[in-house]
Order: sequence, then C-alpha cells, then structure tokens
Amino acid sequence: MSAAELDRIEALLPNWLEEKRRKCQYGKVASYIPELSKSPAEALGIHITDAQGRSVAGGDSRLPFTLQSISKVFTLILALMDNGEEVVFDKVGMEPTGDNFNSMLKLELVQPGIPFNPLINAGAIAISSLIAGSSTTEKSARVLDFLRLLAGNPSLHYDMDIYRSESDTANLNRSMAYFLKDNGVLKGRVEDVLDVYFRHCSVQVTCADLAQMALVLAHDGNNPITGESLIPRRYVQIAKTFMVTCGMYNASGEFAIQVGLPAKSGVSGGILTMVPGKYGIGVVGPALGRKGNSIAGVALLEALSQELDWSLF
Ligand code: GLU
Repeated sequence: MSAAELDRIEALLPNWLEEKRRKCQYGKVASYIPELSKSPAEALGIHITDAQGRSVAGGDSRLPFTLQSISKVFTLILALMDNGEEVVFDKVGMEPTGDNFNSMLKLELVQPGIPFNPLINAGAIAISSLIAGSSTTEKSARVLDFLRLLAGNPSLHYDMDIYRSESDTANLNRSMAYFLKDNGVLKGRVEDVLDVYFRHCSVQVTCADLAQMALVLAHDGNNPITGESLIPRRYVQIAKTFMVTCGMYNASGEFAIQVGLPAKSGVSGGILTMVPGKYGIGVVGPALGRKGNSIAGVALLEALSQELDWSLF
C-alpha cells in the first residue's frame, strides 16, 4: 500500500515543488542569528521515508541546515529518559503560550514562574539543564549521540559558524536564562546550560536526517527498519502531543487544521513531521512566513496532506 502511495507522491512532487517554491518570495529568511541570513531564500526540499526504508525526495532535499527549534523535541525526550516525567514537569509546563517563541512575558506574570512548555525557548533552555552528564561537554555529547542514533547518521555535527553566531548575539535567550536561574528553574551555571542549548540548536542536518528521526517517532520510538527500540513509547506520545499543540509556534492550531500531523519547525526553515505508523518526513524552506514557519514548506505539506488524506483529526 505504502509503495503505491510513495509512487503517487513521487509523481506529484515535481509540480508541487515548483508551485510552492513561488511562495518563498512572500517569506523572509531569519536574520536575528546573523549567520542564518545567508540561507538560500528560494530553496525548498522534502524527503519522505517509509518503514521499509523506501524514500522519495525532491527539490533541495540535500541542502544542509541547522536543527534550531526542532532539536527541542529530542532534548525533551532525552531529559524525560534521564529524569522521568515528574522531575521534568516540575520545571516546565505543558501548555501553549500564545506568545512568541522567545517571549519572557509569562515567566514573570504567571506563577510559579516556570516556562509554559518545553518547545518555547525558555522551556528548552530549562530542558537543557536537565540533560544528564558530569560536564557541559558530556551533556552536549550525549545529545549529539542521541540525535546521531535517531538519524542513523554517525556524522551529524555542529555548524560552528551558526553556533558562534547565535552564542555571540543571544542577548534575549541569555536574559531569559538568567531569569530562569533566579526563579530556581535552572540547575548549574547559566552559561553552561546555554552552551548545551546553542549546540543542539546548531546541529547540521538534511531533510533525509529529519525524515529518519521522524520515522522513529512515527513508530512509537522504534526504528522500523532495524527493529531497534530507541525511545519509550510514553515519551514519544508526550513529544508528539507537544508537537501538535505547540510545534509550529503560534500557527500550531492552523497547522493542525490544515495538515493535521505532529510537527516541529525551526527558524532555519526546517520542519520535521510524520504520518504516524507510516512515514517520517523532513522539509526545508528557509523563507519564513509571518508566524516563523517555512512558508513554502507549510504550503507543500498542506497540499500533500489534503491530497493523501493524512490528517489525524
Ligand atoms: N536557536 C534558536 C533560538 O534560540 C531557535 C529558535 C527556533 O528555531 O525557534 O532563538
């Protein structure tokens, strides 16, 4: 069944890629991390992998880009595996915010002053401090190894230019982290926690890597190709639920209605999504729409989901 559907997607993709790519002109590449502004604004690529290891790819699917916020899904999972639910959700909430991904507003306004969810910056910084390890180097190495394992790609590495560019300019994330420290949310030195955070945001991937990581989430934490069990099912369930409620910034509701799949986007223009039980999907399109998601990438996913009836809802 899936092979025939993949053939259909392969036949549809070239036209859709061409049509949706035109939307890039209405978006903007992120520039608040200076190095990100060098990303190609016209690019659009996709890679879809199924449980038998078959895949379909198109457009600029080989373009390297950084994980950015997409990494937050996996640090959340690793922190859950390291600490369990009780410890993690003592430090981070479970609700969407309605504010920008880098907002500090509610940290002061809403008691007990813990971040609303693990996918906004404040929450992901708190999660970075929950990663086990005796040093910053060990914590970062554990995150990178976990990402390599899920992607089935031992050569995943940091884009050091993006890492330095973010670390040198992250005044807002820095102030947020110091605020969290004062609220008793962060363990350890603030700069060490931030270093773990900046590093996981700067891991370089392609759409194929995202698709493989997503395939594991689509199969309840198992790699369906090797049969390995990589993540406890409960933690995949938690991560996928956050992806539905908060994965696409303040467009998560609209994405749930138009596409209907768990997804997480990043400011680099990447989107990781999946058809549960079937496919892992990676998309890249650095030109972002008003709400911070890849403008052409979202349009492409809308077309695919509607044509193939993928919505879970
Ligand atoms: N590293 C980025 C930041 O902290 C990630 C933001 C994102 O992708 O949403 O600003």
